[in-house]
Amino acid sequence: MCMDFLNVRGQLEALNEKADWYHVDIMDGHFCKNITLSPDLVRTFGQVASLPMDVHLMTVTPNDWIDAVADAGAACVSVHAETINTDAYRTLRRIEELGCQKGAVLNPATPLSFIEHYIDMLDMLTIMTVDVGYAGQRFIEQMLPKIELARTLKEKRGYGYRVQVDGACNEKTFQRLMNAGAEILIVGSSGLFQRDNDVRAAYDKMLAAFERAMQA
Ligand code: MG
Repeated sequence: MCMDFLNVRGQLEALNEKADWYHVDIMDGHFCKNITLSPDLVRTFGQVASLPMDVHLMTVTPNDWIDAVADAGAACVSVHAETINTDAYRTLRRIEELGCQKGAVLNPATPLSFIEHYIDMLDMLTIMTVDVGYAGQRFIEQMLPKIELARTLKEKRGYGYRVQVDGACNEKTFQRLMNAGAEILIVGSSGLFQRDNDVRAAYDKMLAAFERAMQA
């Protein structure tokens, strides 16, 4: 959602060479008050994108969207824990049946304990460090212990998920997020795109900023 939409093809071609994953935000205007990407766009991006896509469903009824995004080419479907509490097992099994990795996302106000009964089923665990809905939001410090706990539990109990962070991943937070145990950082406007109009240059500047932050 942070890309330059007038130059999506060029940016995807550049990022294919640089990044590891794409993160695609889908909002329905109800779970959060914004509308961004869509299953059709996942399919369109897939014509150029050569990296796996993690599709983050910020939708009130994720079950209405899972089949569509899987069919469109999602490698991982990440659903909000707050939206699957009545049918979490059916939802995660459906994602698996469709051949996708199973992801759960926690809003800042949702504790890790909320998902304790199915955390072992996850391939991806995303901790929101900003409230959902918009780019460029302020980092919520209180999420650092949650990231730490997610990583500790994974190591202690041998869970298979990767600890992913969504929101305000940039030089102000890189070091604290990595020290807390983050494994995947999702970079958007502040982390990547605002650094340069040329996304290749922006990516290199981001990596340099990451290195500097880690040596600080
Ligand atoms: Mg997201």
